[in-house]
Amino acid sequence: MRLWQPVEVARGIHQIGPHWARVTVITGGREVVLVDTGWKGGMGMLKSGLKALGLAPDDVGLIVLTHYHPDHSGSLNRMAEATGAAVAVHSEEASILTGEEACPNPFPNRLLAAASRPVVDRLYGLPCAVDLELADGDLLPVGQRVQAIHTPGHTRGSTCLLVADSKTLIAGDALQYRFGKLRPPSRLVTQDMRQAEESIRKLSDFDFDTICFGHFRPLRGGAKEALSRLCHRIAANGPVRA
Ligand SMILES: [Zn+2]
Repeated sequence: MRLWQPVEVARGIHQIGPHWARVTVITGGREVVLVDTGWKGGMGMLKSGLKALGLAPDDVGLIVLTHYHPDHSGSLNRMAEATGAAVAVHSEEASILTGEEACPNPFPNRLLAAASRPVVDRLYGLPCAVDLELADGDLLPVGQRVQAIHTPGHTRGSTCLLVADSKTLIAGDALQYRFGKLRPPSRLVTQDMRQAEESIRKLSDFDFDTICFGHFRPLRGGAKEALSRLCHRIAANGPVRA
């Protein structure tokens, strides 16, 4: 299967891209929403994916970033230009995308951060204007119920989206789904694991059947129960190794 070939996750929700950088497309409302933009240089794949869904770039009305990491924001400036769409991100991270604040290194470990800096700095895309700064609980202005849930920990502004009609949670990197098991985010690239686990507990207050991730196959059916089991593991064992 071609990398850009869209995969239908739920009604009105598709994902484009490989396991290591998935972009989610929400249709069915007044505006087509793109969630994340993948690595820098991924424009061709995104355009092909949209085309396969019968969409042109200028059909996209809103681009939402789950967080600033370069595998999610790398193509943001190019995609914003190509689509003319508004750009939304949690208010905690807007200054990173606009370039007012230097792009942080994703590795909390100082040695890894220092060693990776020359490479990581080149992975970020160019700065981009932010039109909409999101806060916890905000509903996106897209003509269907899509709620922003602030889930800090992986990064300070990490945000999940809950699409009510299809009972789908778009989790970005707030969760992983490896080897058939729901897990917390990777501690290697998570700023604050305690906070990330608190955010996972917060997600259990919401109602969903399906979870889309930034880097893994979707979890279809029984997603809320899987999250509940993860919360129990965290409560019983303390921090879960991711
Ligand atoms: Zn990330």
